[in-house]
Amino acid sequence: MRRFIGFTLALALILSLTACFGPPVDPDTVQESIQVIAMDTAMFISTYGKRSTSAAYASEDLIRDLESKLSRTEEESEVSRLNAAGGQPVEVGPELAALLTAAEKYRADTHGAFDITVAPVVSAWGFTAGAFRVPAQEELEALLEKVDGSAVQVTEDGAGGYSAALAPGQSVDLGGIAKGYAADRLVDLFREYQVPRAMAQLGGNVLAWGDRPDGTPWRVGVQDPARPDEQNAFAGILNLKNAFAVTSGGYQRYFEEGGKRYHHIIDPATGYPADSDLTSVTVVADCTYDDCMGALCDAFSTAFFIMGEKEALDGWREWQEGPPSFFDLVLITEDGRVVVTQGLAESFTLEEGSGYTLEIVS
Ligand code: AMP
Ligand code: MG
Repeated sequence: MRRFIGFTLALALILSLTACFGPPVDPDTVQESIQVIAMDTAMFISTYGKRSTSAAYASEDLIRDLESKLSRTEEESEVSRLNAAGGQPVEVGPELAALLTAAEKYRADTHGAFDITVAPVVSAWGFTAGAFRVPAQEELEALLEKVDGSAVQVTEDGAGGYSAALAPGQSVDLGGIAKGYAADRLVDLFREYQVPRAMAQLGGNVLAWGDRPDGTPWRVGVQDPARPDEQNAFAGILNLKNAFAVTSGGYQRYFEEGGKRYHHIIDPATGYPADSDLTSVTVVADCTYDDCMGALCDAFSTAFFIMGEKEALDGWREWQEGPPSFFDLVLITEDGRVVVTQGLAESFTLEEGSGYTLEIVS
């Protein structure tokens, strides 16, 4: 027995010496991973670097803080107070002020397809409370009269504070943009904590920060919309460094009634779930370009899904007149094609055996 203890001690000593004198660990490859259940989804964040642990926990705090302000279902949130104010101005923080302002810009950019004041219609279909139903046409028509994002007012008080007001009867739902905005704020946090690389999956919003520890790009799977419940069932893979990749699709949240499927992305022109010729839209952009590209990708993926293939590609072409490769798209069509815009030609690989055909467009 004594010999055994002696042997164990010797082994422990050797192991600890190896730990002390072994090859130095590259601090940029030290990793921490966390899971956060927030914003109606499961989020996974892996951070690297000397401060990976504190950065991961700060990421969780940031997301929880944003959720407490932006949630429509938490009674005390800023958004809930704004929605309950009956059109009166309400004091809001800089995050909500920025998001309301950005949302209005994206509404105009997408010719009304993205409109956060579609909230009462989303609720009428039961998506807010999870009590699904098909609303009557008259009910939808009455609700649609209040849908108009241009009526949302944001005012700066001159001393750094903000207030916001809706038109009476309006409410807002930031579910189509809040996760992208959270990804934008994670970029700030990763800079602050000097995180050299990270992978954040916030539901359908991916932030691929830096590269992988071996210097290769992050591999981001684009879910096959035909197999929504299968993990690792991808239509293709995106190889990305320093990028947002945000996916929207009707396969993500839906209910069925009378043999018909009703999903959660509402066309403000009809009040109905968008009747799209696309099954999924992924918007990809450089995450170092400016401080709201995550929110833009999130809003545009929702809007392009509603707009359908032709209008989405027209929109993409219009934006190409701006900075080069401002954003790029992966569209999956109902008729089995994966349409990828030029800027992703090198980074997208179609998954073998997925059954899709690949088209690169310019
Ligand atoms: P996403 O998953 O980013 O495509 O966003 C879908 C969510 O955005 C829905 O669950 C609603 O909360 C909200 N939403 C639905 N339709 C619209 C719309 N037309 N404009 C803005 N937000 C919407
Ligand atoms: Mg979105």
